[in-house]
Amino acid sequence: MNYNITVLDGDGIGPEICAGAIKVLNATGAKYGHTFNFTHKLIGGCAIDKCGVPLPEETVTACLSCDSVLLGAVGGYKWDSLPVDIRPEKGLLGIRKAMGLYSNIRPAKLWASLAHASPLKYELVKDGVEIIIVRELTGGIYFGERGKGTGDGGEYAWDTEKYSVAEIERITRIACELASKRDKKVVSIDKANVLESSRLWRRTVHAYAEKNYPDITVEDMLVDNAAMQIVKNPSALGVVLTSNIFGDILSDEAAQVTGSIGMLASSSLGDGTRGLYEPIHGSAPDIAGKDIANPIATVLAAAMMLRDSFSLTDECAAIERAVESVLNDGWRTADIMEEGAKRVTGSRMAELIAERI
Ligand code: NAD
Repeated sequence: MNYNITVLDGDGIGPEICAGAIKVLNATGAKYGHTFNFTHKLIGGCAIDKCGVPLPEETVTACLSCDSVLLGAVGGYKWDSLPVDIRPEKGLLGIRKAMGLYSNIRPAKLWASLAHASPLKYELVKDGVEIIIVRELTGGIYFGERGKGTGDGGEYAWDTEKYSVAEIERITRIACELASKRDKKVVSIDKANVLESSRLWRRTVHAYAEKNYPDITVEDMLVDNAAMQIVKNPSALGVVLTSNIFGDILSDEAAQVTGSIGMLASSSLGDGTRGLYEPIHGSAPDIAGKDIANPIATVLAAAMMLRDSFSLTDECAAIERAVESVLNDGWRTADIMEEGAKRVTGSRMAELIAERI
């Protein structure tokens, strides 16, 4: 099969880590008989420098006409003093909106060989952990009505958590799709003992999943309990479905369990199969151009693209196995270096992974 991928390298370490992911994708294509065609487009600071805007029209057109999008990272000191409207991050918000992406998927994966990097007790994480947070991204309290005023108690302010059945159903579909390619279980997070919006959330998630995904089991968990389970029993969670605000908080908590920012991937999906895949870290301008950035987060983002956008489950698993095997053999980039391990550059790390596909 032929797949057309738009690559948005972005700024700082973006081009280095994307080059690593492309190397691994090409090795995977060669092994499994696929061709991945890459078209590079500008976003963020480099787009401001060349075109005067963080998201050129040409980039949007390319992202809307390809099979999926791989993004490095945007931003850097150079653009920090620009007016808010033409900052690099505007390019990111703009492309998510243009592509109609309403979900953010953040797998917090801790590899058994890096268990020592977790702040949790070794016993809890020694076999590795994978929590996949599926966060609703365009609704809820961050986008609801808000206001402020002055009353008897002095100044006051309010925000509104509001979800429609349609919004809940479409994010439930994404969680069920991901779970159907994994362990067929979704843990849905709410605060249904207090919030009306959560009671609608719970009812809708169950009704939609039962009707459309009868083989998926949905478990409910209150958000306060979820915050505890992430540090108490992280391997019991799996695919976790959340509203915007709960997902914002829980995904950062879950990322901390892994202890390593250079290893974590994320994706944003909307209707259809086209998505935006990226590492969770930023453009790391402090280490750009030195060939020490860890490419694994971006390599794993590319692997997610194969499974979640192209349904290439075996190919995704091959990349994950290759990463695991390189880690098990003690190869480390600077950020995950430990005593007794073998240090390699970022580009060599990508080569090692590609060689083991
Ligand atoms: P950052 O994630 O870029 O860096 C934080 C720290 O982690 C730095 O010390 C960096 O060297 C290290 N680091 C990050 N990725 C690494 C990797 N792959 N390998 C090894 N070390 C790595 O966050 P920051 O320093 O707060 O932000 C830098 C720039 O990135 C800012 O302009 C910010 O706005 C932008 N940013 C972009 C995104 C994105 O594009 N999605 C996300 C976050 C921050």
